[in-house]
Amino acid sequence: MSSNQALFERAQRTIPGGVNSPVRAFRSVGGTPRFVKRAQGAYFWDAEDKRYIDYIGSWGPMIVGHVHPEVLEAVQGVLADGFSFGAPTEAEIEIAEEICKLVPSIEKVRLVSSGTEATMSALRLARGFTQRNRIVKFEGCYHGHADSLLVKAGSGLLTFGNPTSAGVPADIAKHTTVLEYNNTQALEEAFAAFGDEIAAVIVEPVAGNMNLVRGNPEFLQALRRLCTHHGAVLIFDEVMCGFRVALGGAQAMYGIAPDLTCLGKVIGGGMPAAAFGGRRDIMSLLAPEGAVYQAGTLSGNPVAVAAGLKTLELIQAPGFYDRLAASTARLTNGLTAAASDASVPFCADAVGGMFGLYFTEQIPASFADVSRSDIARFNVFFHQMLDAGVYFAPSAYEAGFVSSAHDDAVIDATIEAARGAFAARA
Ligand code: PLP
Repeated sequence: MSSNQALFERAQRTIPGGVNSPVRAFRSVGGTPRFVKRAQGAYFWDAEDKRYIDYIGSWGPMIVGHVHPEVLEAVQGVLADGFSFGAPTEAEIEIAEEICKLVPSIEKVRLVSSGTEATMSALRLARGFTQRNRIVKFEGCYHGHADSLLVKAGSGLLTFGNPTSAGVPADIAKHTTVLEYNNTQALEEAFAAFGDEIAAVIVEPVAGNMNLVRGNPEFLQALRRLCTHHGAVLIFDEVMCGFRVALGGAQAMYGIAPDLTCLGKVIGGGMPAAAFGGRRDIMSLLAPEGAVYQAGTLSGNPVAVAAGLKTLELIQAPGFYDRLAASTARLTNGLTAAASDASVPFCADAVGGMFGLYFTEQIPASFADVSRSDIARFNVFFHQMLDAGVYFAPSAYEAGFVSSAHDDAVIDATIEAARGAFAARA
C-alpha cells in the first residue's frame, strides 16, 4: 500500500504540482493531499484506507452521493453499447428535453464536456449576438479558465494569491470589466458609463468560488433590468449552483430569468458533461444554424449523458430538495452552535445543498468580506477535521457540498468532530 505522501512525491515527478487541478494540491492549507482510492455514498477512502466524510463531492456533482446504485446501473447499462460515437443519440435529446423542462428560461441547450467550455461558449455566443466585445464579471466569481474570464476569478486563483493568470494577453483581459459582487450602485454606474458596449454580464447568482456568497435579490434584479434596458445578454453561471440550491437552480429560487444559463457538475452526475442554453433566438445563432462556431468531439458523450439523466431523475423525487436543505442546515447550525459553545468567532450559511463556513463575525456578502476571514484559523480547523476523518474543501475560499447520502448520523458525526476541533482551539 502506498502512502499519500509517497504518491504525492511520485505524482510531482510527472504532473505539475502533482495534481490535475490546482486546489487539490493543499497549497493553501499545507500538508499532503489525500489520494482517493474509492468512494461510496457520503464517504471516500484514501490510499492508506482511511475513511473520510466527503463534503466536496467532486466539487458539486455528487448530489446523490458517490456510486449511487441507480446511477451505476445506468452507466453500466450503456457502456457495452459504445463509449463515444461522434454522431447524435436519442439520449442527448432526452437530457436536452429534461434540462429545458427543469429550467424554463432554457429553450434550447447545447451539451459540452466542462463548465469552462459552457461559459466560454456562452460568452462567444453573447458577443456574436450583440456584436459587442465587452463583458462584465464580478470579483470572486469563477467561471472556468477561459482567458477572458480569468480576471479576479475566485477560489483557485485566490488560493495562490494571483488576481489573474499569467498567459492571458492584456488585449483579451481589457475587454473584461470586473465589478464588486452585490454592489448595485457600481453596476448602475458601469451601465451608465458604457452600457451600449456590454455584450454580456456573467454572474454566479449564488457564488461558490469565494466560499459561499448569496447574490442579493435586489442586485440580481438590477442586473436583469439593466441588461434588458441596454441590450446586454445576462448569463447566469449555474455550473455550481444549478440543480444544487433548488431543482430549477438559483434562477428558480430568485424568480429571475437570465438570457443564457451555464450548467455543469450535477448534470453529468460525476461524468464530464456540462451545457449552456437559453433564449431560442440567441441559441439559434450557434453553428450549424448560425454563424457562432462551437463544437466538441466528446460533447453529449453517451456514458456521461446516462449518468446525468439518471441523476436528474433522482433529484426530482418528491421532497429531495427539502431533505437536502434540511441536512445542510443541520450541518451549518450544528457547526455554528459548536463554535459558539467554544467561543470561536465563526459563522456558516447554507443554500439548498451548498454551504459556506467562515471564520468571520458576519456572513460575507462580497469577496472583500470573505478576505477578512481568519485564514490561519481555517487552516488549523481544516487539518483537525481531516485528522478526525472529515474532508472539507482545502481552502477558505471554497464552498462545501452535501449529498442525499449525508444522513443525520453522518452530519452529527461531523458536528461532534467539530466540537472537538473548536474546543481544542478555545
Ligand atoms: N463556473 C462555475 C461557477 C464553477 O464553479 C466552475 C468550476 O468549479 C466552472 C464554471 C468551470 O467548470 P469546469 O471545472 O467543469 O470547467
